[in-house]
Amino acid sequence: MIIIMKPSATKKQVTSVIDRIKDIGLDVQINQDKEQVVLGLLGDTRSVQDIAFRSYEGVDTTIRISNTYKLTSREFHPQDTVVDVDGVKIGDGSFITMAGPCSVEGLDQIRQTAQIAKAGGAKILRGGAFKPRTSPYAFQGLEEEGLKYLRQAADELDMKVITEVMDESHIDLVAQYSDILQIGARNMQNFKLLAAVGKTGKPIGLKRGISGTINEWLNAAEYVAVAGKSPVIFIERGIRTFEDATRNTFDLSAVPLIKKMSHFPIIVDPSHGTGVWDLVPPMARAGVAAGADGMIVEIHPAPENAWSDGQQSLNEDTYRKMMQEIEVLNAAMNEIHSLEMLTAGR
Ligand code: PEP
Ligand code: MN
Repeated sequence: MIIIMKPSATKKQVTSVIDRIKDIGLDVQINQDKEQVVLGLLGDTRSVQDIAFRSYEGVDTTIRISNTYKLTSREFHPQDTVVDVDGVKIGDGSFITMAGPCSVEGLDQIRQTAQIAKAGGAKILRGGAFKPRTSPYAFQGLEEEGLKYLRQAADELDMKVITEVMDESHIDLVAQYSDILQIGARNMQNFKLLAAVGKTGKPIGLKRGISGTINEWLNAAEYVAVAGKSPVIFIERGIRTFEDATRNTFDLSAVPLIKKMSHFPIIVDPSHGTGVWDLVPPMARAGVAAGADGMIVEIHPAPENAWSDGQQSLNEDTYRKMMQEIEVLNAAMNEIHSLEMLTAGR
């Protein structure tokens, strides 16, 4: 249940409603909008009667949220959440690119890749140091050494960092080096890990599970949101279907759907979404058109020599060209957005 306070509600009126919520043994999350306060009741609200709160002074209305996720929902937080990654804003209407190799392979490689990423317009450097690999014999990542190289390469170019944390025991270590903590597709429903990263205060890049439904994905975000400190960035990276001509089936309808259901930003990952490098630019363009807040893309100075995911990585030339196209499309999207605002009379 959420309780929407009137714009005119006083602090005292809000406090007395919060006190009542706590009295009946529930927790509360407060969303202070520009215009009004919205209170989200956390816990089992089945026996709570709406009328009990509607009679309070300053209460506008109460809404039952039928979803099992609440803090993640649009109802609780009608305005878009803009995630601030140490000064880089995600979800504010701009299109943010995170680019880098699948794996950090060494200092030279990540530095060279960071140069390419930055020159093309990316503000955030990606790179795996802890790698979830299907085979235990495949390269598992440089771990802390990789984190150090990644941070150094990013700092030299004033870029931010996103990298994956695979295990609860590595959270402090990864958080020391990374601005965004990535939860990989294979961990989308690792609930203990989600709850633990949610306590760090770092933004969480939450990949969609390999066969994760939209509802499961939203509930996974709720595990992070309940911890109360970290905002979520959804990352659509394709799902497994019967189609095997591409690595995954890139579900672009997730972009407008997540935007409808949730206030958190969503970015696209056309690299894992397709698994084929020459399909990446057209699907990145489609991501912009679908309204994504950004993308994460794999690039490599020499994809043919990459230690992982070379087949879906862009080289410098294809990346540059794609980024120029994205810029053109993004300008067009901004015009479309202004038109929408105009027709909505805002
Ligand atoms: C990655 O980003 O390199 C990765 C392993 O992604 P996913 O978890 O989406 O497979
Ligand atoms: Mn990869």
